[in-house]
Amino acid sequence: MFTIVEIFCFYDKILHERSDTMFKKLNILDEKDKRLRQTSKEVANFPLDKKEKKLIQQIVDELTFSQIDYYAEKYDLRPGMGLAFPQLGIMKRIIVIVHEVKEGEFDNYVFINPEIVSSSEEMIAAEAGEGCLSVNREVEGHVKRHARVTVEGYDEDGNRIRVRAREDLALAFQHEIDHLNGILFYDRIDPKHKFYSENELRLI
Ligand SMILES: [Zn+2]
Repeated sequence: MFTIVEIFCFYDKILHERSDTMFKKLNILDEKDKRLRQTSKEVANFPLDKKEKKLIQQIVDELTFSQIDYYAEKYDLRPGMGLAFPQLGIMKRIIVIVHEVKEGEFDNYVFINPEIVSSSEEMIAAEAGEGCLSVNREVEGHVKRHARVTVEGYDEDGNRIRVRAREDLALAFQHEIDHLNGILFYDRIDPKHKFYSENELRLI
């Protein structure tokens, strides 16, 4: 007889194997592509169509796999927790974030027309700097961002959704929303002050 944990793992395995056999790597634009500098358009029609929903699932799968060593190696994926539609050359205000809450456990966020409705005064930065699936090189420097943000938007069916994000999840939301406005993370690195000390800024 299966215990609940075994049943869960079995189910999880089937899910992974299903997306595994159908897995096709996304074609992510490189930073040199001018489309990454454009402002994306608001989505006006809900629910999203089948093609768009399928693509979102594909993004969730790839971001999840990229954070699991076995799949990252198998498919040669760079680890990433977020992707915005313009990174695929689709100029729509849609972002996807896959956040590892603990080892092997992920929360998915799909936000359409996302907007930051409030943000903390406190600023932070990722100590190791930020990375981007469209930037295939190391860029040194701290990217100063809000420690907490509240984001509102719509889900795939047009329902209003809202999340309060903090720490690394807050950074991810700010990074992905920047993509919708043609901003890349290194635009926010101050060339005259690339690195902050712990006294100047909380580093996570
Ligand atoms: Zn990015």
